[in-house]
Amino acid sequence: MLHSSGERDLRTLPKAHLHLHFTGSMRPGTLLELADKYGVHLPDALSGGEPPKLRATDERGWFRFQRLYDIARSCLRAPEDIQRLVREAAEEDVRDGSRWLEIQVDPTSYAPRLGGLTPALEIILDAVERASRDTGLGIRVLVAANRMKHPLDARTLARLAVRYRDRGIVGFGLSNDERRGFARDFDRAFAIAREGGLLAAPHGGELSGPSSVRDCLDDLRAGRVGHGVRAAEDPWLLARLAERQVTCEVCPASNVALGVYDKHEDVPLRTLWEAGVPMALGADDPLLFGARLAAQYELARRAHGFDDAELAELARQSVRASVMPEDVRKRTLADIDAWLAAEPGLPEADGPPLGRAG
Ligand SMILES: [Zn+2]
Repeated sequence: MLHSSGERDLRTLPKAHLHLHFTGSMRPGTLLELADKYGVHLPDALSGGEPPKLRATDERGWFRFQRLYDIARSCLRAPEDIQRLVREAAEEDVRDGSRWLEIQVDPTSYAPRLGGLTPALEIILDAVERASRDTGLGIRVLVAANRMKHPLDARTLARLAVRYRDRGIVGFGLSNDERRGFARDFDRAFAIAREGGLLAAPHGGELSGPSSVRDCLDDLRAGRVGHGVRAAEDPWLLARLAERQVTCEVCPASNVALGVYDKHEDVPLRTLWEAGVPMALGADDPLLFGARLAAQYELARRAHGFDDAELAELARQSVRASVMPEDVRKRTLADIDAWLAAEPGLPEADGPPLGRAG
């Protein structure tokens, strides 16, 4: 479908969403309702109806971001809250043209309110199965360890993640402030995850520079990198990512919201693109950054001049980097081709009949 301006609608471009955090996927209206339900006082930054102003490039700014995230998470207290969160995240994804969602969660932070680590994970996986059934969206889970916690905790999580592999866990991540500690502190946890058949997808190259992406590759053997945009500062690293076809889960709206880059134009999408580094655009935490999946592609179009053929290729890259079953991947890639092949000015094939007979 084309806008009146003659552009194809990016919400109908089929794509895979590979970088979305659990609480961060919540609808703002749902947060208000849950806060009301539990009598949680939300700071203005979360209740004002506008995404909060954040600047996480210093430790205080990052701490403030984490605090807001923690407050939002504290409103998820019962299995039905978790079910609602995942169902709505899936609905938003479907609306934005997502065919496949890989959502990441650290079950540790939900455990105290949901009866412990294993029950929390089971509640989350149940919710994912149900949301997938209800919306038709394929959803899988990455369990993410917290870099601020002890590496032994990460090992426990990795073992748990492997144990629940047949319930839809496909990957293992590492999140929170990458300026703290070293990736290699978590190498054992990642070895457990990889040996258990999980994809290694740690965060790196967001708050720290290229060295943090290199650590993800060398120490954690990352198959994908969360963010990774700061690799743009090192041509040799870009070449390495391109040669090995390691996908960077780039989240353009998040990068500007957190102050990693000042302006949308500054996010080095073109640098990664021209170096041949595959990307999967993601929303990261739409609750806090105000932009969901299709909006990331809109930014690629508006701020970086990606044309429709290039946007279709970005969508293909997200699909190739996902762990979709092969039949779904084939179908999705064919549908991307159909999106691009649809002649500008005409509605989609499954749109209303034109009635242009004589
Ligand atoms: Zn993230």
